Amino acid sequence: MNKYCQGPKCHTYMTQDRKRGIKGDKYFQTRSVRYGYGDNNFCTTICLGDWWAEHGTRAIDHFGRLHQPIRLAPENAWIKDYRYRRDDNGYDHYFLNKLTNERIPLTLAQYDDNDYTLERARQT
Ligand SMILES: [Zn+2]
Repeated sequence: MNKYCQGPKCHTYMTQDRKRGIKGDKYFQTRSVRYGYGDNNFCTTICLGDWWAEHGTRAIDHFGRLHQPIRLAPENAWIKDYRYRRDDNGYDHYFLNKLTNERIPLTLAQYDDNDYTLERARQT
C-alpha cells in the first residue's frame, strides 16, 4: 500500500514525478513516500514545513506544551559513548556524564544492551 506525503500542498509543486494523466487530462498529485522526512511522512522538508505551518501549534497544544524549561543537570546528563583507541585499534565503551565528564566503563555487550542502564552499572 502506498504511503503518501502528508504535505497539504505537495500536489501543488508541479514536478515531473507528480505529473499524471493523459494529454488533455493532466493533473499533479501528492507523492508517495518510502524514505522521507518527519519519520517518513513527508517527501521533502518543504512539505514537512507546510504541514507544520497548518497544524504545528495545534499538535503541540494537543500533545503537551512545555511551560517550564527542561534542565540538563548532572543527574540526567548521562549517555552511552565510546572512544577509539589508536594504540591497539580498539574501542573504550562507557557511560559518560556530559556535565561532569565522569565515566563508568562498559563492556561492548553492556554498551549494546538497551536494558543495561546507569542504575545497573552503579550496582556492580
Ligand atoms: Zn510532499
